Amino acid sequence: MSTLLRPMFHRISSVRLLGTAAPRTVNGSRLPMAPSKDDSIPPEKLTFDDPSAFHVKTFRELLRALGVFQLCSFPVLVNNCGKLMSVARSLLGKTGFSMILRPSIYAQFVAGESEAEIAVAMEKMNSLGLRTMLAVPIEEDLGESTGERRYDDNLEAMLECVRISHSNACADPMMQLKITALLSPELCVKLSSLLSKEQYDLAQLVRAMEGESFHFPGLTQSENTHFLHGLRRLNKIGETSFLKVRVLVDAEYTYMNPALSLVTMAMMKKFNQKGAWIWNTYQCYLKESRSLLLDAIGQSVSQSFCLGVKLVRGAYMDKERMLAAKEGRPDPIQPSWKDTNKSYNGLLDILLELVSQNTECFRVIVATHNEESVRHAVSRMAELGIDKNCGSVCFGQLLGMCDHVSLTLAQHGFSVYKSVPYGSVDDTVPYLVRRAQENRTVLQGIRKERDLLRQEMKRRLKERLMGYRKKC
Ligand SMILES: Cc1cc2nc3c(=O)[nH]c(=O)nc-3n(C[C@H](O)[C@H](O)[C@H](O)COP(=O)(O)OP(=O)(O)OC[C@H]3O[C@@H](n4cnc5c(N)ncnc54)[C@H](O)[C@@H]3O)c2cc1C
Repeated sequence: MSTLLRPMFHRISSVRLLGTAAPRTVNGSRLPMAPSKDDSIPPEKLTFDDPSAFHVKTFRELLRALGVFQLCSFPVLVNNCGKLMSVARSLLGKTGFSMILRPSIYAQFVAGESEAEIAVAMEKMNSLGLRTMLAVPIEEDLGESTGERRYDDNLEAMLECVRISHSNACADPMMQLKITALLSPELCVKLSSLLSKEQYDLAQLVRAMEGESFHFPGLTQSENTHFLHGLRRLNKIGETSFLKVRVLVDAEYTYMNPALSLVTMAMMKKFNQKGAWIWNTYQCYLKESRSLLLDAIGQSVSQSFCLGVKLVRGAYMDKERMLAAKEGRPDPIQPSWKDTNKSYNGLLDILLELVSQNTECFRVIVATHNEESVRHAVSRMAELGIDKNCGSVCFGQLLGMCDHVSLTLAQHGFSVYKSVPYGSVDDTVPYLVRRAQENRTVLQGIRKERDLLRQEMKRRLKERLMGYRKKC
């Protein structure tokens, strides 16, 4: 870590809460529900327990959400949902499977398939004061590698995502990018193990992105050729999205993350000279997350580029632990949820401190459904005097999850993005399986969302019953 940055991490700031307490007004009206920009609220009053955040949902949407979350509460279903889906897919065929999934789990977590469906979803978000972060759920794991042609097709899909994000523009559009859609997981694993022994020069990677030919140490001829192709694909995405759409690179498994970070840093070096257009993701469930983040901050300072960070807890806990146990390695994940929370809030503090010093160069998206972390962020922003409209700190939740958190934040004038995946039913199955599994580990948020949904359903049923009685 740069010694330049060290003192600011330890600076103790005086406590200064957000303005005066404005009443927390969640009007019961249906669409549109625009945020009120000057609606300040002391962070401790952000309780996210008002079911009127769900007034904007139709009865059908409430029913669907409740049904899906209820299904996700059965461990046996969730633990085996990958297998169950593939059995259902082979028994029912493509059309039958799609007919079951489309109105249920798919509709809950995915925006749609066609551009028109995506535009409708984006429009709806906009009218609720939410922004969209589109995600093409293409990714590969070891043993699933496809040829160069497939990666070029994936590139086209990503470029299309840039175009849709820009053309349906909400303010300051963002999109997510999975590197393993453009670079084979096998190569990422090999590069990751090479990186423990040798350093790759970011300037050289940038030149390779621009078309210069190099032979990178440790790679075979064919691996090197694929790497060069992959870097050029990433360059194309960087060039197309530059100054239009912020590209947030996803973090994946520990056995390939070092390679993903390497190429992301090279993209940052090229495209983040004057602003954070390329962002990296840091997973706080990892024991090494703090040193990884400090290292990235150090690189951004020493190599003079801006740093955008998506801060998450991490989505691959079970598989990481299983693999570590199988290979006899120490568990890379924090020992408990409590430790992950401590890690998340600690890294958040570091980032907010940096943002408060330089809002142009450091940006962060607090990507979590955890209310405590959201409150922590809001409170630290107030203490550090970070303006919620400055654009350097925003919040993120997944489509279909914890809308009570997203809508409440938006109503109080914070920038909130919903991560919105799109694609065909078949293409989104791995994503849906992960969402279902995640609902098991997203501990408090989903339980609370279920309770709030039930309260809203009861309120509407009561309202209808009263209306019916009056008529009689
Ligand atoms: C916009 C957005 C983008 C995302 N992008 C990525 C990404 O690129 N890569 C990625 O990996 N994930 C990503 N995620 C998912 C994220 O990592 C979490 O899985 C998800 O958000 C749940 O965590 P939470 O903070 O919302 O909720 P919480 O309910 O507070 O926490 C649940 C999380 O805590 C951790 N946890 C649970 N139990 C334990 C335990 N016993 N020990 C240690 N830790 C535990 C796990 O990470 C679990 O997912 C993204 C999420 C969002 C909202």
